[in-house]
Amino acid sequence: MKAPAKSSGSSSPAVSTPAAKAVADASRKLGERERLDLFPLLAEHEHEQVSFYYDPSTGYRGIIAIHSTVLGPALGGTRFWSYPSDTDAVIDSLRLARGMTYKAAVAGLNLGGGKSVIIGDNRTTRREALFRAHGRHVESLKGRYITAEDVGTSTSDMEYIKAETNYVTGLIGKSGDPSPVTAYGVYRGIKACAKYRYGVDGLGGKRIALQGCGSVGYHLAKLLHAEGAVITCTDIDPQRVKRVVEDTRATAVGTDDIYDVRADIFAPCALGAVINDDTVNRLPVEIVAGAANNQLAEDRHGDLLEQRGITYAPDYVINGGGLINVNAELHGWAPERARSKAGEIFDTILRVFEIAREEGIPSYRAADRLAEQRIAAIAKVRRNFV
Ligand code: NAD
Repeated sequence: MKAPAKSSGSSSPAVSTPAAKAVADASRKLGERERLDLFPLLAEHEHEQVSFYYDPSTGYRGIIAIHSTVLGPALGGTRFWSYPSDTDAVIDSLRLARGMTYKAAVAGLNLGGGKSVIIGDNRTTRREALFRAHGRHVESLKGRYITAEDVGTSTSDMEYIKAETNYVTGLIGKSGDPSPVTAYGVYRGIKACAKYRYGVDGLGGKRIALQGCGSVGYHLAKLLHAEGAVITCTDIDPQRVKRVVEDTRATAVGTDDIYDVRADIFAPCALGAVINDDTVNRLPVEIVAGAANNQLAEDRHGDLLEQRGITYAPDYVINGGGLINVNAELHGWAPERARSKAGEIFDTILRVFEIAREEGIPSYRAADRLAEQRIAAIAKVRRNFV
């Protein structure tokens, strides 16, 4: 059976997510400057390389952005999306590639950051030729970039890519569902937050407001429940709520009510941009720590959490287990090794809080510092020819 394509919740032409809005805003600014100034854009965040490839026979139009290969080959998924303009597609690939560099760096992996996009309608059924064209594009970079699944692509699409290149991961029957490893990393990150905030990492009796009872949310709820935490949960899918309620004795609330649940910890495990103007002053909690990507609608919402005295575990640090799982597939690690590496998120989160305290900056900025410190240190070590 064909695996379902990953989706951001809708088919590709609807570009209304906060991330898409950020891209559109940035691109509009570019529009004001008349056209895409590609090299200044690369220079702005020190991207190494962008590759464009067009295949008229399939209509394939692909971009591969490589932000950094200082730590290792650039790894990042292939996003299949119908962008309003080519400029939006370029900006999205650059932004996502940069995010991957930081995520791999703080996870302690020997991977750089990259991302690719295929421009088009991800509902197409004519996938083989398209993804094989993408595979040839990936192959042309000779290992500087390794791809995987992302929004709009599936494991079976990765198999098509594999027919043209070995620089692809997330294949059928390999590392499998990353959610248990991600959930374990998030659990360890939550414990680190508790240690920082309360002096002990035990979660017995701690009240958790869990948003999202999907793959990660469910596994996380089980781990929290096993340690005696008391869970209040929500999801737009009643079946998913039911499973968490039954298996962890959680209490269910409405999707908007979760932001007003009096708890110790809010764990966002559903969507991005949930810390926004509407929610940031609600959340009667002391800690925000969960799996969702891009939790802060804008950086200033991280500042607002800080001002409210809320301990925030930066999303790309605490949810690094998924990337660790992919890395495990690349290097043939046993599952225990991937889990143990995800467990190190405990120490990384504490290190982030230490940097934040030392430098007097919010935790989301401290995470970037940690990533940049590691990249700079390794760049120095590798500067000589050996
Ligand atoms: P999932 O699709 O299995 O679960 C997400 C859940 O959120 C679904 O059950 C969905 O119904 C629910 N949801 C959607 N909108 C909601 C809303 N408004 N209110 C409440 N619930 C809502 O996805 P997942 O794999 O569990 O991932 C969860 C989050 O963690 C995502 O943001 C994902 O990008 C991020 N993440 C996941 C992994 C991983 O290994 N799966 C790794 C890193 C980051």
